[in-house]
Amino acid sequence: MSVRKPYRLVSRDFHPEDSVIPVGHVAFGGNKVVVISGPCAVESREQVLTSGEFMARVGVPVLRGGAYKPRTSPYSFQGMGVDGLKLLAEARDRFGVMVVTEAVDRESLDHVVEWADMVQIGARNMQNYELLKAVGQVKKPVLLKRGFAATIDEWLMAAEYVAANGNPNIILCERGIRTYETKTRNTLDISAIPVVKQLSHLPVVIDPSHAAGTWQWVAPLARAGIAAGADGLIIETHPNPAEALSDGPQSLNFRHLEELMGDVARVARAVGRDV
Ligand code: PEP
Ligand code: MN
Repeated sequence: MSVRKPYRLVSRDFHPEDSVIPVGHVAFGGNKVVVISGPCAVESREQVLTSGEFMARVGVPVLRGGAYKPRTSPYSFQGMGVDGLKLLAEARDRFGVMVVTEAVDRESLDHVVEWADMVQIGARNMQNYELLKAVGQVKKPVLLKRGFAATIDEWLMAAEYVAANGNPNIILCERGIRTYETKTRNTLDISAIPVVKQLSHLPVVIDPSHAAGTWQWVAPLARAGIAAGADGLIIETHPNPAEALSDGPQSLNFRHLEELMGDVARVARAVGRDV
C-alpha cells in the first residue's frame, strides 16, 4: 500500500471512523460538543474551587487551569506547580469535573499524569519532540495545541509522534496562528477544522480565548468554531478577570460563560450536535 501522507496513525486513510477519546466520564469526538473551561493559571485554592463548582453547575464537564505556565516573560507568574495540581484534583473530587492542565517538560509531565485527567501540550511545545515522545508513553489523554507558526501537516506530525510512541488518545486544539494581523492576539484558523477533520479521525477543539486575546471576541469565535464542526471548546474563565495573574483580558467572567453555554447549545443543535 502506498503511504500518501507522512502521518499514518492519525490519518483517516487508515482509520476512516471518527475517534472518540474518553477523558474520565467525558467523551470527545462523539455527537456531543464538549466544553472545557477555567482559569488560565491556578492561582489559589479559592479561585480553583469556586471555578470547579461553577463549571459543574453550568454543565461544563472539564476544568482547565495551568499549574506550569510557559510565559513569554521570565518575570511573569510561572504557576503554582504541584500545589496547583493538588488544588485541581481537589476540585475534581468535590465537583466531579475532569481536569486538564499543561505539562512543560518531562518532570512536570510526571506530576501532571499523577494528578490530572488529561495532559495539555501547549503551542510553544508542539514541536518539542522529546516531550511529545514522553507524552506518547503515558496512559492519560493528550490535548495537543497547534503551534502558532505550525502548518496543519506539522501539527498532525506532532500528533503522529504521540501516537507512534504508544498513546492514541489525542485531542487536537486550534488556538490561533500568527499572521500579520495585530488587532487579535492570534488569527483563529477556522479552516483548520474542516481540513483536519477530513485528514484525521481525531477530535478537534477550538480555543477562541488565546486566538482573540480579548474577552468580547471569544463568544463569536466559539460559535463559529462549533458551526464549522469543532468537537469542543476550551475557554478561559476567571472569577474576577481584572485580578487574574495571567490572561485576564481574554478571560470571561462566570456570567459571560453561562451566556456562552446557551449559545453553544443553540449552535450545536443547529448543526445536529448535542451538548
Ligand atoms: C494556555 O492554555 O493557557 C496556553 C498557554 O495556551 P497556548 O499554549 O495555546 O498559548
Ligand atoms: Mn492562557
